[in-house]
Amino acid sequence: MTASTASESSANAGQISYKDTLNLLKTPFNMRANSQVREPEIQAFWAEQRLYERLSEENTGPCFTLHDGPPYANGALHVGHALNKILKDIINKTALLQGKRARFVPGWDCHGLPIELKVLQGLKSSERAELTPVSLRKKAHAYALEQVEGQKAGFRRWGIWADWDQPYLTLQKDYEAAQIGVFGAMVLAGHIYRGLKPVHWSPSSRTALAEAELEYPDGHSSPSVFAAFPAVELPSELAGTLEQAGLSPAQATAKGGLAVAIWTTTPWTLPANLAVSVNERLDYAICAIEAQGDNPAPAASHLVVAAELRESLETSLGLTLKPLVSVKGSALEGLQYRHPLLERTSPVVIGGDYITTEAGTGLVHTAPGHGVDDFNTGRKYKLPVLCPVDEAGNLTAEAGPFAGTNVLKDANPTIISALEETGLLLKQERYEHRYPYDWRTKKPTIFRATEQWFASVEGFRQAALDAIAQVEWLPASGRNRIEAMVSERGDWCISRQRTWGVPIPVFYHRETGEVLLNEATLSHIQGLIAEHGADVWWERDEAGLLPETYAAEASQWRKGTDTMDVWFDSGSSWAGVLGGIEGASSRAPQLHYPADLYLEGSDQHRGWFQSSLLTSVAVNGHAPYKRVLTHGFTLDEKGRKMSKSLGNVVDPAVLVSGGKNQKQEPPYGADVLRLWVSSVDYSADVPLGPGIVKQLADVYRKVRNTARYLLGNLHDFDPSKDAVPYEELPLLDQWMLQRTASLIDSVSGDFERYEFYRFFQALQNFCVVDLSNVYLDIAKDRLYVSGANDFRRRSCQTVLALVVERLAGLIAPVLCHMAEDIWQNLPYSVAETSVFERGWPTAPEQWRNSALEQPMNQILELRALVNRQLESCRSAAKLGASLEAQVQLSLGEGSEATQAALTWLENSAHPKVDNLADWLLVSALEIGGSNPEAVLAEASENGITVQIRKAAGQKCERCWHYESDIGEHAAHPTLCGRCVEVLS
Ligand SMILES: [Zn+2]
Repeated sequence: MTASTASESSANAGQISYKDTLNLLKTPFNMRANSQVREPEIQAFWAEQRLYERLSEENTGPCFTLHDGPPYANGALHVGHALNKILKDIINKTALLQGKRARFVPGWDCHGLPIELKVLQGLKSSERAELTPVSLRKKAHAYALEQVEGQKAGFRRWGIWADWDQPYLTLQKDYEAAQIGVFGAMVLAGHIYRGLKPVHWSPSSRTALAEAELEYPDGHSSPSVFAAFPAVELPSELAGTLEQAGLSPAQATAKGGLAVAIWTTTPWTLPANLAVSVNERLDYAICAIEAQGDNPAPAASHLVVAAELRESLETSLGLTLKPLVSVKGSALEGLQYRHPLLERTSPVVIGGDYITTEAGTGLVHTAPGHGVDDFNTGRKYKLPVLCPVDEAGNLTAEAGPFAGTNVLKDANPTIISALEETGLLLKQERYEHRYPYDWRTKKPTIFRATEQWFASVEGFRQAALDAIAQVEWLPASGRNRIEAMVSERGDWCISRQRTWGVPIPVFYHRETGEVLLNEATLSHIQGLIAEHGADVWWERDEAGLLPETYAAEASQWRKGTDTMDVWFDSGSSWAGVLGGIEGASSRAPQLHYPADLYLEGSDQHRGWFQSSLLTSVAVNGHAPYKRVLTHGFTLDEKGRKMSKSLGNVVDPAVLVSGGKNQKQEPPYGADVLRLWVSSVDYSADVPLGPGIVKQLADVYRKVRNTARYLLGNLHDFDPSKDAVPYEELPLLDQWMLQRTASLIDSVSGDFERYEFYRFFQALQNFCVVDLSNVYLDIAKDRLYVSGANDFRRRSCQTVLALVVERLAGLIAPVLCHMAEDIWQNLPYSVAETSVFERGWPTAPEQWRNSALEQPMNQILELRALVNRQLESCRSAAKLGASLEAQVQLSLGEGSEATQAALTWLENSAHPKVDNLADWLLVSALEIGGSNPEAVLAEASENGITVQIRKAAGQKCERCWHYESDIGEHAAHPTLCGRCVEVLS
């Protein structure tokens, strides 16, 4: 900071004896943050004071519930975690300062496949063979807890306040029981049903696989076929169009007439075909077929293909396709075709944008039992989920003549040759593409419809949309996102074929497959889980799980093996943590449901915001939150994703505590990480990289040095004795308090709107411009040179004390360690042990004296003009310090506002402070007239002419002012009269 360095160097350069007579900076508040020692010390002080606990319990304001979205308990913390948790902490600390009872219970998402896989990967194959569900669960449990501890230590190091000793974990008994409560309430309300859905299935290991269990080996090729499906009925509009083009409907639907062309790389799914899908926006050509050369003509006279693919298909099929007419995909909807291999007809339907002209024909063979897009399209048209393939990949009786063939062996060739016999096979060839294999058996997988559990979103979609409208979404675009997602989404598949999770508490009849799931079984199992945890489901047999009333028939029932989707786990946190369901209680009395705020990354409109909304609406009819705030993602300084391969990852642990080589990667401390969070406009994606960190460290140092300068000048100040009442303060001081009030007002608004980057800018501006460049720059002389008890100095110290206490309060939510460090180093006693006990800074109404602004701005403009001239003299080596200069001002036409400002200044009751020469940091000032002699620099602007010349007199050894009375005092022949007076 300029003020402090200039003063210190001036002191050092002066004579030693007189230097000691100056009032120098004195404070234990260190210029260097020493964050690796000091931040943990401050955190220990908070813990010892039980500050978070006391404020969140004893504050007298309303409760405030920011409900934590649980991060997944796996892996090291990254900057995304930092952005999220520090934003939450800034909001919570602000709330606590504002007197609210803000309790923050942090959470972790502990179940699910990634942890299950971690455990499996850590086992030898012999250990894996002996693994039971219960032993796998115990290992996963231990692994999750270990991960929680690691992440927790990181969060604590960042200075985040929370119930760290009592976090919520989705694996806790009471949490699991509350989740079963949510599931049960949805069952009883009729929102849960069982249905078929295609999942990745491995015929070789006869099990469903998750995405993470698939691998995609190079060089896979599938037998692909082009086939013609003969039309048997045309929608009337299409019939008319064809008629006009010269193809009569009778001709088109006759044997050997019009056909739709499809392409598939899984011929074994053809027996499950129930539709052909088109993209309504694409153009389709209806073409007359002519055989080329020796190629046999297919058993069709006309073919429908995507217009864009017609030419390339001519080549690949070896047929001439003469376009007759072109229609949009939507015109094909409702065309009925005959299955080429089985006795049934099916419709052409509208699929979606997944239908493209990148490959194939632009018409997609649709088997809802064997593909996700097919399944979704099938649902729209209420097509059955036909799946004529058993667990081992054998085709079943539903596949007609192909029953008994196997999808990985003979099904494809058998079906292709049957197709060939019909004359409807247009072409077959090997096709190389990415194809999923089972990671364990290294064999291809298939999509196969299996029985799954669903939440019927249809049943409460409107209620969910109504609930969305009741919530405040920040930014407002969040509402559109989640609204679109909820209105378009299909039913929610909540079952997973995994072991590490909360069970779907259902029983199936061993013979009939009938489902047992009712109020009695649900509440009994909920009770068991509350007592023993979800392990009980795997530890006990049916007799041990069923309620008394079913004891006699226990042997008839088989417990289910599915677990719940982990989004159902975390989506139940409003019940498990906030007590939003009957029978569950909130984790702390300050937590309420619905929560005041949820705050996560913008991807959670698809994730946690939505799963929480759906469960809460299904059970209670309203959203679990009143307000939802989202943030973007962290990128590097060039706007790229952070990745190990790019080498652009910023590790928050290294940023805070330094890397292996502390010269290259110095420890910046948690406050610099927190300052970064406050500096970014997080409504979009936010950048972070080494350059940005350096800039932030600079800003941090500026704030720190400003605070140090304020503290250092207060070592002999006792506000109870020395403070000057506001009314008696000079204009300059009143102006500084006006700036402080204005900062408090704007920052309060910034925090209210969660616009922390505005606080970051306002803080810098306040420290650099208002304080360092203006107020403290002018105040140096008052603070150092004046007598310790002089009014000039005491009035200034009054302002410094008022400002430093408020500055500490304003930065406390963000730079919490620095704020506390300031508070602990206040050189006089205050009532509050911690800055956080002081409360949010306020300013007395009298400080908001806007009448000071206009004249002060005029004078600051004048000061800038003078400074530019002084600077030009200095750079031309005509002047050293500005005190070597005297300034002559002449004020002509156009300078009326400045003249009024100078009159205002002259009328001050405190000419020894409110003195323009002092404000300009020059030794003498003359207003009026002009003198052509010895001018070092001159400039005119807006009717003001500034002339700079060397100050008359000699330099005082003590205050460096040039004065004419030096040498008049025998005891101090090198001092000015003012300094002599101070020393006497
Ligand atoms: Zn002097």
